[in-house]
Amino acid sequence: MSDIIKLLPDHVANQIAAGEVVQRPASVVKELLENAVDAGATQIHMIIKDAGKTLVQVIDNGKGMSMTDARMAFERHATSKIATADDLFNLHTKGFRGEALASVAAISQVSVKSKREEDNLGTLLEIEGSKVTRQEPVVTSQGTMISVRNLFYNVPARRKFLKSDQVELRNITDEFHRVAMVHPEVAMSFTHNNTSLFNLIKSNYRQRIVAIMGAKTNEKLVPVEEETDLMTVKGFISKPEFARKTRGLQYFFVNNRFIKHSYLNHAVLSAFEGLLKDKSNPAYFLYLTVPKDSLDINIHPTKTEVKFDDEHSLYAILRASVKHALGQFSVNSIDFQQEKQYEVPYDVAKNGHSQVPKIEVNSDFNPFQQEKSNKKTYQSPSFQKPPAQPWEALYAGIEETSQLIDETDREASTSFMFQQHEVEQRNIFQLQRKFVISTLKSGLLVVNQQRAHERILYEK
Ligand code: ADP
Ligand code: MG
Repeated sequence: MSDIIKLLPDHVANQIAAGEVVQRPASVVKELLENAVDAGATQIHMIIKDAGKTLVQVIDNGKGMSMTDARMAFERHATSKIATADDLFNLHTKGFRGEALASVAAISQVSVKSKREEDNLGTLLEIEGSKVTRQEPVVTSQGTMISVRNLFYNVPARRKFLKSDQVELRNITDEFHRVAMVHPEVAMSFTHNNTSLFNLIKSNYRQRIVAIMGAKTNEKLVPVEEETDLMTVKGFISKPEFARKTRGLQYFFVNNRFIKHSYLNHAVLSAFEGLLKDKSNPAYFLYLTVPKDSLDINIHPTKTEVKFDDEHSLYAILRASVKHALGQFSVNSIDFQQEKQYEVPYDVAKNGHSQVPKIEVNSDFNPFQQEKSNKKTYQSPSFQKPPAQPWEALYAGIEETSQLIDETDREASTSFMFQQHEVEQRNIFQLQRKFVISTLKSGLLVVNQQRAHERILYEK
């Protein structure tokens, strides 16, 4: 009997490998978006036709490829991102396996236009089922445009397994979100069948999440921030009252990569213990950063499942961070309306600095002297009025009476605070409408009205 083992031809090997990397149009979206980010793009446009079954096109303004690199990019295990196995533990890119483009090109019709900044002309490349059908110089702008047409055109069995356009578009949208949420610094757009679905400008994490999830999300977010040697946690959780029956808005990103991790998910949920209605799910958008060498990303071809060195400690840190954030939130949510209205004197607001008030001391003033019915005590010489403005003359006379009335009211409303200390004495002043100042037997009492009010609310 003759020998029976054969080496598979490249295009067959690529097709088989493609099965791992490309399950659906959304897989192509993920790979192309990640390549664009890795290329340092600041703008990425994504154009989709028929839920990706007809076209997935990604245009970036990243660093582009030389003619040789554009050709090499479609070889299996061809990557510019790692050179040795050690590099796997010092990754700063999303891709590194060098198999995405080779896989995609094995099961679709691909065309690429790419140009580097330093080149005058770019490269046009067309590949069908792993075979290069066209390669020529082309006039194009800096960056790369990759169009992937008719996915699985040569693997009908797999094309048949694609779901409805609605489901496939949902998957594509999820992938778009996952990249967009972790790269708010990149402007990103998404058009489906000539309808613009997202047009995200460069922003920060919170703004990006809100731009994707809708304006109402903003009020639902509680920030999480914790820094330890093992892990930094940043991001947002939803307030417990916004938890939903369906799962869904739960995102972990580790070192800028979307991941799924049921153990860490449990850590977050357990921090919400007792705060959620039965079976409801909080939303979370958590950006974790761990030392590169404590993370193994290479355990799955799509790299969404990862392995950490010390999962138990990470669990504890994450749980504590979320609990802490929830605690902070519930303290802050006691509604001290006043707190937001700190009075900033006009001078300070306008000039950024305040004028030191002039205080003239009357050495004859004796706080222990009984001044029963003299209502003018608040105008004691220690707090002299500033020199009159010309317009004040108009109010001369009127002012004094109104001040007296004012003072009587004020005294009535504040005196209850001092009842134990002060039975006889009634020397109470208000300074800058902020401080209540009174003399006591034992000395001087200064009360910050704002703080006193807050304290009363708090005690209540
Ligand atoms: P990987 O991303 O794992 O390296 P890919 O098959 O996705 O493998 O890409 C192969 C190579 O092609 C990349 O390493 C990169 O050098 C180059 N490349 C792919 N897409 C782009 C792009 N949009 N801009 C610039 N270079 C790209
Ligand atoms: Mg890649």
